This record gives sequence, structure tokens and C-alpha cells, in this order.
Amino acid sequence: MNFLLSLICVAVSFSVAKGDGAVWSYSGNTGPAAWKNLTGYSECGNNAQSPVNIVTADVQVDSTLDDLVLTNYDDSSTKTWTLSNNGHAVKVDVDDGGYRLNSNKFSHAYKLAQFHWHWGNVSTEGSEHTIDGTEYPLEMHFVHYSTAYNAIGDAISQSKGLAALGVMFTIQSSDNQALKPIFDLLPNIQSSGSSHTFNYTGSLMSFLPSDKSYYRYMGSLTTPACQESVVWTLLQTPVGISEAQMNLLRTNPMFENNGGYMVNNYRPPQPLNGRTISKPGTAGSSAGQVVHSVAAFVFTMVAAALWFL
Ligand SMILES: [Zn+2]
Repeated sequence: MNFLLSLICVAVSFSVAKGDGAVWSYSGNTGPAAWKNLTGYSECGNNAQSPVNIVTADVQVDSTLDDLVLTNYDDSSTKTWTLSNNGHAVKVDVDDGGYRLNSNKFSHAYKLAQFHWHWGNVSTEGSEHTIDGTEYPLEMHFVHYSTAYNAIGDAISQSKGLAALGVMFTIQSSDNQALKPIFDLLPNIQSSGSSHTFNYTGSLMSFLPSDKSYYRYMGSLTTPACQESVVWTLLQTPVGISEAQMNLLRTNPMFENNGGYMVNNYRPPQPLNGRTISKPGTAGSSAGQVVHSVAAFVFTMVAAALWFL
């Protein structure tokens, strides 16, 4: 019996070591600044890391970027999903509901594997990406992998192997009704490693703003091993969430290794290192503004000349 227990313990510790790599966290000597120095995570120190701060004045208009194509995101039938606490975040693994993200920029569609959240202990912080330096209380990530690969594990280290869709949240007085059925289950996944299977009736589209305008750039996973395989799509328009719902996140799931309540599980912005951030649009829209400016200038000069006459 003891021998059997020992075997099980060895098997469990082996799988933990193999699956999780070095211990990492969001604070102290295993926190974000140290990730690149931890065994197996040197890529966290590379030059195309995520998240980033988006300086809207520097965003390039790219007329070849098209609208997002989100297949089956509007399916509102009842589905069975699994909510879990992986020790670093709260995530929902989806069944294969045919959820796809596509664009004319991609050779293959991207298949949704899971979505998860990053948040702060107060509402002045929590998001990973920032926009013109503004931090949001919550950021939601939809993680897709290229259908050029059989599994997310095969795609994770390939160039453009993953596509992440990010959504920012701002505080509103009323609850977010799409998130409510999920966040009400958070007391079921307080301990690291716990999970809870549930039925969800509603669409993925209900988590997103109606305006799907976005920013696009090439980056990485925001958690170790920080693979630089991610096509990032960040929606420009935030959606709302209540403080009461934020507090459900802040007071239920616990970090791994007795790390206390799971809060501030976000990586700060990383250097762009010359990468461009783009958005869809037409060159004509900015040219139009120039034409207007020139017209206004000519009008002013003519008016001034007439005044002096
Ligand atoms: Zn994330």
C-alpha cells in the first residue's frame, strides 16, 4: 500500500514538474521581472513580448486589415463548459463549438480553446494591455490556435500559431449579465487546481462590445513561457462590469502555493522594440482630414484678405 502511494506521489510530482515548469508568480522573486531568469522561461526576455501599451497617436492605419470574422460566436444554445482555477487565472475551457476567428490576413482560421481573465485588487489596475497609459480593472482573453495544427500544444511555439482576442472592462453600476452566470460560480473554484463543469446558455458575442473596431500587433503569451507566437487583436471599445462582480473575482479564487487571494494577476506592458500596432481603415479617411484642413486654411486666408480689402 505504501509502495503504491509512493508510486502515485512520484507520478503526480513528475507530471506537475513536467507540465508546469518552474514556479512563477505575479510578485516577488518569481514575479514578472524575474520570469526571464527562471528555468525554461528565457523567451520572456525576448523582443516581441506582450502585453504592450498602445499609444493611439502612433497606431498605423492598415487598409488591408478587414473586419473580424467570428464564426459561431453568436450561437446562443446551451453548451457545457469547464470553469477552472489554474493557480494564476480563472479560465473557461470550451468544448469544440466551432468557434473560429478569421480574417483575410490568415491562411487558416483560428479555433477557440479557452478564455480567461486578468484583474486588479482595485479598479485602477488589472488589465495587461494599456491604452495611452490607461489601465483597466479587468481584461478578458480569448485564446485561439491555428487550425493548421492539430492541438494548441503543437501551435503554441509556432510563428502566428495562436490568435488572442482581448477585451477591456470599465466599471458600471449594473452587473454584466453575460458574465453573471460564470462569476456566480467562482465560490466553486476557490482552491488552485479546482474546476467546475457547468451549462452556459448564451453566446460568446454577448461578452464583446457591439463595436468590433480593433488594434492588431504581433506579440507573445503574457504568462511563462512567453512564446512569441501570438497574433493579438484588442477590441478598442471596453464593456462594463460592476464593482460587486469584480469583488467576486477578488475574494474567491486563490493563487497556487498558498499565495493568497488571486489579485493583480497581470503582467505589466513590455517594450514595443520597433513593432507597429495597426488598425483597419482607409488611407482616404486621413487624406480627407488633410483636404478639410487645407480647405479651412484657404477659407481663412480668403476671409482675412477680404477683411483687409
Ligand atoms: Zn491572458
